[in-house]
Amino acid sequence: MIPVNEPLLDGNEKKYLLECIETGWISSEGPFIKRFEQEFATRVGRKYAIAVSNGSVALDAAVVALDISTGDEVIMPTFTIISCAAAIVRAGGVPVVVDCDADTWNMSVEQIESRITPRTKAIMVVHIFGLPVDMVPVLALAEKYGLSVIEDAAEAHGQTYQGQPCGSFGDISTFSFYPNKHVTTGEGGMLLTDDPAIAERCRSLRNLCFKPEQRFVHDELGWNLRMTNMQAALGVAQLERLDQFVARKRAMGAYYQTLLAGLAGIQLPGAETTYAKNIYWVFGLVLADDVPFDAKEAMSRLGKLGVGTRPFFWPMHEQPVLHKMGLLQNEHHPVAERIARRGFYIPSGLALTEAQMIDVAAAVRQVLQ
Ligand SMILES: *Cc1c(COP(=O)(O)O)cnc(C)c1O
Repeated sequence: MIPVNEPLLDGNEKKYLLECIETGWISSEGPFIKRFEQEFATRVGRKYAIAVSNGSVALDAAVVALDISTGDEVIMPTFTIISCAAAIVRAGGVPVVVDCDADTWNMSVEQIESRITPRTKAIMVVHIFGLPVDMVPVLALAEKYGLSVIEDAAEAHGQTYQGQPCGSFGDISTFSFYPNKHVTTGEGGMLLTDDPAIAERCRSLRNLCFKPEQRFVHDELGWNLRMTNMQAALGVAQLERLDQFVARKRAMGAYYQTLLAGLAGIQLPGAETTYAKNIYWVFGLVLADDVPFDAKEAMSRLGKLGVGTRPFFWPMHEQPVLHKMGLLQNEHHPVAERIARRGFYIPSGLALTEAQMIDVAAAVRQVLQ
């Protein structure tokens, strides 16, 4: 079986991990945490970075740090991971969704303004699958209506928008270091901001909101979202090679584009937009409407040929858990609905070899013929 994702851990990962064990620094108090935070902040061009235990809780903390609470509306894409909506809902807020673009699969920025109401508090942008959201119009709307911006850059390590790093936009940005991301710590996440007060709040939320003056007295409920020194050790080693990783992912994407060129019945990812070149977080495929089966069937057939796949995200407005809460019912977002049913991604991990990519492409051709 060709796995859908396998990370590359052959740099300084082992050396730094051993250092943790030999020095006894394994908790969040260890020195790799500060080093990872500083180096990540520098890389993204932000003043402050706060390492946390995963990308989902980074979103939880981001929403609370921006004071989003009961009844506050946050505009976000329907085509994304549940973590985005969950963070808003858990804080008492209301997710308001827009459809996505048929070519980039990113949120339809032109639909945002019509969803703004007096209760709108923020826009949560999510860069999907390797191409960034068109940020200029989003930032202009945020400015015009006085809204906060949360940037979920979990899939955009090393990506830029008009030459500026993804993760450097808006009031607060978040990353994930799950093994299928361009930088992995096994599990892990990061919050980034240029605002010292927001940074302080995130640090406090990460650590149970202990008060510095009197440790076990609390004004607010936080969480334990701390990252371990061992995870940060992996992160430092991975970050050293981010440019290499991005170049490799781009080369892999270009190779798949060549291998699958001209194949009828399938939409390939866009190689670039006017503001960015794809970094191919994953290599997604969408079956054309005239293909007589859906993504589920295609994935099952590819599985039988030894190719691992994953489905696309399922839209937020079609989530039973949100419907049960009375949220996003009776909404229709045709692009997201179509790509959720007809989209899936093929093996895209950094450890994938060219020989494996040739086999994957041959299997995709066989399934479609
Ligand atoms: C991976 C991912 C997350 C969640 O990160 P975890 O570390 O898995 O919790 C959030 N948002 C997006 C867009 C992601 O791709």
